[in-house]
Amino acid sequence: MANQIASVVKMKCPKCGEGDLFKNKNPYQFKGFFEMPDRCTNCNQDFMIEPGFYYGSMYVSYGITIGLTVAVFVAMTILNVFSIARFIIADVVTLVLSLPYVFKMSRALWLSLNVKSSSNVYP
Ligand SMILES: [Zn+2]
Repeated sequence: MANQIASVVKMKCPKCGEGDLFKNKNPYQFKGFFEMPDRCTNCNQDFMIEPGFYYGSMYVSYGITIGLTVAVFVAMTILNVFSIARFIIADVVTLVLSLPYVFKMSRALWLSLNVKSSSNVYP
């Protein structure tokens, strides 16, 4: 489980935790942003399990986005600076800035949910 979380955060292959999921690892560098290798360079795990596989990552992305929106709301409430206008501005800024990372993170998480890790089989 810890290995799978680490592979999602580092955007590595969910099976072996070694191969990179994206050709360009920096989410804020847009050259080759969408490019993923077809297979893991280390364990040969297929990264495109079926056609349209990554449509499912949109649900993950939606969940992360809702989580960020709630986090902005809670932070503004705790800091006692909440107003609807400020909340909308802060939320839009947060979501736009985090979009490239959330995009890649949701693909990594979606793949991780669908591929068994080879390192933690019944510990
Ligand atoms: Zn691998």
